[in-house]
Amino acid sequence: MVKKVLKFGGTSVGTSERIQHVAKIIKKERFAGNKIVVVVSAMAGKTNELINLSKQISEEFNKREMDVLLSSGEQVTSALLSGALTEIDVKAKSWQNWQIPILTEGEHTNSRIINMNIEKINEYLDDDGVAILPGFQGISKKGDITTIGRGGSDASAVAIAKIFNADSCEIYTDVDGVFSTDPNKIPVAKKIEKISYDEMLELSSLGAKVMQSSAVQTAMMYAIPLEVKSTFTERKGTKIFSQENIDYSKSVTGVAYSKDDAKLTIISVEDKPGVAANIFEPLSKAQINVDMVIQNISSDQKTTDITFTVKRDDVAKTTQILKNNSKIKYKEIIHNNKVAKISIVGAGMVSTPGITYRMFRALSDEDINILAISTSEIKLSVIIEEENTLKAVKKLHTIFDLD
Ligand code: ASP
Ligand code: MG
Repeated sequence: MVKKVLKFGGTSVGTSERIQHVAKIIKKERFAGNKIVVVVSAMAGKTNELINLSKQISEEFNKREMDVLLSSGEQVTSALLSGALTEIDVKAKSWQNWQIPILTEGEHTNSRIINMNIEKINEYLDDDGVAILPGFQGISKKGDITTIGRGGSDASAVAIAKIFNADSCEIYTDVDGVFSTDPNKIPVAKKIEKISYDEMLELSSLGAKVMQSSAVQTAMMYAIPLEVKSTFTERKGTKIFSQENIDYSKSVTGVAYSKDDAKLTIISVEDKPGVAANIFEPLSKAQINVDMVIQNISSDQKTTDITFTVKRDDVAKTTQILKNNSKIKYKEIIHNNKVAKISIVGAGMVSTPGITYRMFRALSDEDINILAISTSEIKLSVIIEEENTLKAVKKLHTIFDLD
């Protein structure tokens, strides 16, 4: 007998008909002889709606009360789903965060699940019942209701899978799985059957938002196998596990792009020890995330140009901080907001020589100029002009055999 955690996201439980459909999926899993713990999100849009209500009362709505408010969305879906299961003769019961309890630590609206009491739920599973638990929430040691950050039902599912020692954790959503690139823009994109945690993390940090990254990280830490699949089709999903379980026939697993990057260059800064630290320390203190950094060699041994990328929203703040920084001397700061980051990701890259040059050659064949480059063991990213984004993604997708 297999113990499974099944998590259903907001669109999967977005209407009463969809909840009835989800109940049928659970019935099938249950009657196949599995022990089932279900984790639900609120109905799609519900959490935003609740936040908007709180804003009508106050822009600085009390955080403790915010958690009481926001946790209600998952209370609604867990009750409806449990009711829908009972209606089709599946023994089911919902629990609220405080009834279990799901213990969390940390501040209101941003807590973490640390433990939960599973004895009663396990008894219920042994008694052939399906347990329905609310995602996104818990209670603090003081007994106050908490939530664990937006999109937190994924993290709930992974934490619950770990605490129950489940054999698998299946994330049901509104897409078929993880794709080799954005299927909405590049129709030849393919669903990836198996992917490692590391690759998944790279892809999601690069914009492929299928699952919450911190949830994938937790799953990786405890080696909990994940599967992302669609609630609305019967197609197989994407399995996410550790690299040893994957046979890499291809060097590149996916091509990702982000369009919210900007590039700044500081022209003619002094070329001496400590300058880079003086530039970047105040930026990091201001929580500005610097992505790629390039320093050119100085031709006169006195000055150099430093180029780096940040999120587009941070450009104004970054420029201001640089201008206010009395520790650095330079001629001018220039920036380009119209850049995009294109990345190829693949654990198979490690063992395949020549990937770097093939990527650069492919871009040059398309007449695309590379503005910055960064690499990690399983990722190669370049910054290019934004207008070339789709052309570049298509080309790379083709030459690395992903079409
Ligand atoms: N309902 C919460 C949110 O919208 C948690 C989740 O759906 O994952 O952020
Ligand atoms: Mg979600």
